[in-house]
Amino acid sequence: MTKEKLSQLKESLELKLKYWQKVLRLQDWKFEIKLLPRGGNNEVGHIAFNLNARYATITLAQDSLTSEALDTHYSIEENMLHEMIHVLITPLGDHPKTLEEQAIESFTEALMRLRYDNSPDQPIGLANEV
Ligand SMILES: [Zn+2]
Repeated sequence: MTKEKLSQLKESLELKLKYWQKVLRLQDWKFEIKLLPRGGNNEVGHIAFNLNARYATITLAQDSLTSEALDTHYSIEENMLHEMIHVLITPLGDHPKTLEEQAIESFTEALMRLRYDNSPDQPIGLANEV
């Protein structure tokens, strides 16, 4: 990905981040977004956070396409939203990791559908407020 494309992507993600912070009621958090080439473990997203400081770093793979039909911006947004929801779910305590991931996937998909109604080019509802 060229430097220019990368900075465009980061800019667009930061706008989307603000939108999702509002939806998830996480406006008092500080999120830092890092875009990196996909690592050896093939992970598309990762979050490290400090609950007390309300600070989180989200690392996203630059090329995280989840489906051929979707564009990169949409896919990375979906991965970013997934990581953001971890902030709400992970501190709840002990539960099987797989269940947590499944729940987060369901929330993420539902929220993305609500926002885009399956069409990445046609934001609906709250999206217009960003
Ligand atoms: Zn996860």
